[in-house]
Amino acid sequence: MTSNILLKSFQTPYNTAPFSNIKNEDFLPAFKLCIEEAKAEIDAIANNSEEPTFKNTIEALEFSGEQLDRVSSIFFNLNSAETNDAIQKIAQEVSPLLSEFSNDITLNEALFKRIKSVYDSKSSLNLNTEQQTLLDKKYKSFSRNGANLPDDKKEKLREIDKELSKLKLKFGENVLAETNKFEMLITDEKELSGLPDGAMEAAKQLAESKGKEGWLFNLDYPSYIPFVTYADNRHLRKKITLAAGSKGFNNDDLDNQDIVLKIAKLRFERANLLGYKTHAHFVLEERMAKNPAKVEGFLNELLEKAKPAANEEFKKLQNFAKELDGIEQLEKWDGSYYSEKLKQKLFNLDDELLKPYFKLENVIDGAFTVAKKLFDLNFEEIKDIDKYHEDVLTYKVTNSDGDFISIFYADFFPRAGKRNGAWMTSYKPQSIKDGKNDRPHISIVCNFTKPIPAKAGKSKPSLLTFNEVTTLFHEFGHALHGMLANTTYPSLSGTSVYWDFVELPSQVMENWCNEKEALELFAKHYETGEVIPMDLVEKIKESATFHEGMQTLRQISFGLLDMSWHGQDPTGIADVKAHELNAFENTTLYPETPETCMSTSFSHIFQGGYSSGYYSYKWAEVLDADAFEYFKETGIFNKDTATKFKNNVLSQGGTEDPIVLYKRFRGKEPQPEALLRRAGLLK
Ligand SMILES: [Zn+2]
Repeated sequence: MTSNILLKSFQTPYNTAPFSNIKNEDFLPAFKLCIEEAKAEIDAIANNSEEPTFKNTIEALEFSGEQLDRVSSIFFNLNSAETNDAIQKIAQEVSPLLSEFSNDITLNEALFKRIKSVYDSKSSLNLNTEQQTLLDKKYKSFSRNGANLPDDKKEKLREIDKELSKLKLKFGENVLAETNKFEMLITDEKELSGLPDGAMEAAKQLAESKGKEGWLFNLDYPSYIPFVTYADNRHLRKKITLAAGSKGFNNDDLDNQDIVLKIAKLRFERANLLGYKTHAHFVLEERMAKNPAKVEGFLNELLEKAKPAANEEFKKLQNFAKELDGIEQLEKWDGSYYSEKLKQKLFNLDDELLKPYFKLENVIDGAFTVAKKLFDLNFEEIKDIDKYHEDVLTYKVTNSDGDFISIFYADFFPRAGKRNGAWMTSYKPQSIKDGKNDRPHISIVCNFTKPIPAKAGKSKPSLLTFNEVTTLFHEFGHALHGMLANTTYPSLSGTSVYWDFVELPSQVMENWCNEKEALELFAKHYETGEVIPMDLVEKIKESATFHEGMQTLRQISFGLLDMSWHGQDPTGIADVKAHELNAFENTTLYPETPETCMSTSFSHIFQGGYSSGYYSYKWAEVLDADAFEYFKETGIFNKDTATKFKNNVLSQGGTEDPIVLYKRFRGKEPQPEALLRRAGLLK
């Protein structure tokens, strides 16, 4: 009997991950053994002497390697949310093993022969829609990974994939190390002028935690963002902005330039090998957008609409900064600062004014209340399941009949070892096997401002900025997609949809944060309990489109940068920065800073799964604005509309083409006008 907990069935409530009993040294042997087991299962399918059928081949393959999937999700989620040197080292060892394993499957000829045989006879198999989608997906996962290639090219593909997996991991580690490396200690209080109390207290606490006197700032968003938004000291704003903008671009051992070039070129080579013109052609085949021309057309059409507005906004901001402080030329480190000042002048609505109405606990309750009103979900905090850090909150989710829907983890505060940003993930997928609906374990991870512990009577709960409130609703929207999943096959469940569809459930949830009817439910002053005043709500709505032109331009610039790396032949690119400047040509507002580079820390496309997919944020905005317009037409808590959304989108995962699912919910195709109206770009 093994002592390795990862190799046993988890004897835990709801079959949750047994975090506190997992030792780091369990991972590597568990991975190795689970890979062996999964291989044996695959071999049994490939060498089955019976005729290939959907059940003995496609479905059997779908449900193989279950334990490996669980170990992988636990491990890689920890590597994002609670990592350390040991875990990172294991990741370095494990990643090549996993890509080798998945290549072994996709290049397994006997297995592919059986899949192809089922695929070729699919019209006579009487499959339901979900089964057809699964069959297509499985077949493509082979053909798109070289199953139809001759042996020498298959071998080449394996080499490229191994190399890519190492490079992407290294890219991410460099970005994290750069983020953790930078510290700005301030000892003269005068240099903190402009900063709100909360940011100063947090900086003091951070300094104390490192045994230092004074105020410490770093590149974690809750530290960095308030500094560049409020600090009057232009020189220090410049210092921290340049540090944030030059991650992976310092010509040292954490430099990512070479890695960026290698990744782009290897992806191109891989696509060519498989018969695609570029990496983007390869990727977009399985997207709503379908091809690079469509994406570029989409981005350029938006650019045309947004650019005049952005230029106008920038000119006004420039004039404002000149009037206020005699600034002759607005620089990158001035943008957030003067935008905030102008926003205050126009709307008299700064974050600090709003924050008391957004105590974290109230916002969480608000999200739960919205989910109850829309989708009949109940969230009950439970203490009997294991967690990987004491800050993690755990909930049991049920529906109005009391049926168990999901386990929900929420991990809100930054720590060393947690990567930046916010994301949703799962520790166990949903599926239906042998008639049993196996419910999912969903998690959201954020980096919100921590509460300030009681010391000299100055304790303060975690008060969120409005931006953090919408972030929480955003991730919660992804979580609902995961929690409400109701499909047979795990690989089609929840957020397993086309990438340019995956942001619809998350972005649509953000809309409730702008509505009086929703804010009244939870936006209550943390000390007085007073509901947020309605003039503030009106201003929130008005200010929601503040600088929308500039922000749209920024998103488009990232989308175009992504396409510039992946939508054309990159073999001639030698200089990352020069290439980037070229890609940004039509979207630049601020003077160029030679110290900074976006690509070298653009984790979305060089580490995560957004390569050739960054446009999908805007794409999904078209969808979410169009979808929310339906809610507004019928009432934002209209049960019928919500139920349609649940039944046709949230519960359906990737079982059908997204456009079909969407039309079934909305009754028609999405139109960009709702977004342009909401953004104030369509008069
Ligand atoms: Zn998202």
